[in-house]
This record gives sequence, structure tokens and C-alpha cells, in this order.
Amino acid sequence: MLSDYHVHTDYCDGKDAPEELILQAIKLGMQAIGISSHAPTPYGCFWTMKNNIQYEEYIKEMKILKERYKDQIQIYTGIEKDYYGEAYWSRKNLDYIIGSVHFMPSEDNSRVYYVDGNKDEFKNTLNDLFNGDIKKLVEHYFSLIIEMVNTCDFDMVGHLDVFKKNNESGEFFTENELWYKDIVNDVLDAIKEKNKLLEINSGGISRGYIKDFYPSPWILKQCKTKGINVVLNSDAHSFKNLLFHREKAIELLKEIGYTYITVLYAGKWKQLGI
Ligand SMILES: [Zn+2]
Ligand SMILES: [Zn+2]
Repeated sequence: MLSDYHVHTDYCDGKDAPEELILQAIKLGMQAIGISSHAPTPYGCFWTMKNNIQYEEYIKEMKILKERYKDQIQIYTGIEKDYYGEAYWSRKNLDYIIGSVHFMPSEDNSRVYYVDGNKDEFKNTLNDLFNGDIKKLVEHYFSLIIEMVNTCDFDMVGHLDVFKKNNESGEFFTENELWYKDIVNDVLDAIKEKNKLLEINSGGISRGYIKDFYPSPWILKQCKTKGINVVLNSDAHSFKNLLFHREKAIELLKEIGYTYITVLYAGKWKQLGI
């Protein structure tokens, strides 16, 4: 079964309209597609839906498309929500929610500092908020993920170690460092405890930032040990990247010892053998 549940549209920073993505999914022989535009935030981010009016239009269009293509593909209305301390997340009209942290608000809430930005933006975050201390940045990022996991109602954690897109050369830290392994262990325990899904996201590879998936293979190994269920996602921002590196992800999971992945099918999250 071919499926993809992390897909962006031109409602946010994706290139294509939802219908173009769905038509491509049908062409690829996919059985299920979940669309997950970035939810609006109060910070006026350019890469999200602008406001609730646009969000309602998105929900309306998704309803129409579900009906139009119901004989050809299962379509799910998702959203990628940002966690920035606001824990009330409504599931109204949504089939699922991906929870992600892309930024941290400044203390006075006047601006956002990106962890998922370009290198300059990342350095600004590191220097302005954490005095250049990468350990503090990573710990704070993961504390937000744990807070989100513990307080928000959602399905799946998005791109768990997204900040590594600016650390491909090991410029800021290496993933072998004990403090890093410890904090990752704590995050995975929280995810398992609350029974959240974790995505394997190929978006950092398709966009040319890194060579590995989010999260790194050693983290996926720990997920397997802890019994965390994983979902394969592309984080496509264009129809060209639907299912990106899917076979490679399955290969990696098999190597690690996974015998199944989790898919949204007939309205429920289910396990599918690989
Ligand atoms: Zn994201
Ligand atoms: Zn995304």
C-alpha cells in the first residue's frame, strides 16, 4: 500500500494545489494521501496558512476533493500544527494532526526564532536565545517537543530532529555526544508513554539539506526497541516529491528490525506489514 500523510499545498508554502497533489497520488497508484498544510500561527509566519478564514477554505476544499475522488483514493484532511506553548488543539474537521516545532517565540513574544530555518536564522536563534550554547538550544527544543507530547491532542510528531539540517557537517555538535543521546532517550520515552506516532520524514533529503531521514537511523533503532510506531512521510512541498525515498525508508526499517509501518486506512491508524 502506498501512502503519504505529510504533504504541503499552496495554502501554505507548498507549490501545488491540493487537487494537483491528489491527481498525482492517483497517478502514482497511491491508496491514501493525507494533506497537511501548516496551520496558521499568531506570529504571521509566511510559510503557514494566513488566518482562520483561509483555514476554513482549506477544510471546505478538502471536503469537496474527498467526495470528488472517493472512488479512486482515500483522502485525509490533516494539519501540521506548531507547538509554541499553546496546548488547546481542536480536532474539528480534521482526520489527523502532525505536531511540530519549527520555531521558538522570543520572551516578549514579539518575534520568532527558527530552529527549522536557514543557517543564518539558526545561528540567530543559537546566539540570541542561547548565548551560542548548542546544548541549551537542543535541550530547549526537545523540552518543547516533550511538552507538546504531554499536553496536546494530536497523532504524530513531525521531523523529530529537524535542527540537524544545519548540522550536516557536525559544525555544532555530533550525535554521539552523551548529553544528546540522553535527551533523545527522554523524548522517545515521552512519545511512547503517550502513544504518539513518529514519522520518518524524507523532506530534509528531498530539499537537499541532509543525507539522512528525520530522525537519524540510530534514533529509529531506539524507537524499535521502545516499541514506537512509525509512519512514512515525504513532507513534500511539490507533487514531484510525493513518496520521496519511500523504498529506502522501508529498507532502513527492515534493517533495524521493524516488520510493519503504521498507515491511516479506512479512517483508522493500522499496522501494515513490510
Ligand atoms: Zn514541518
Ligand atoms: Zn511539513
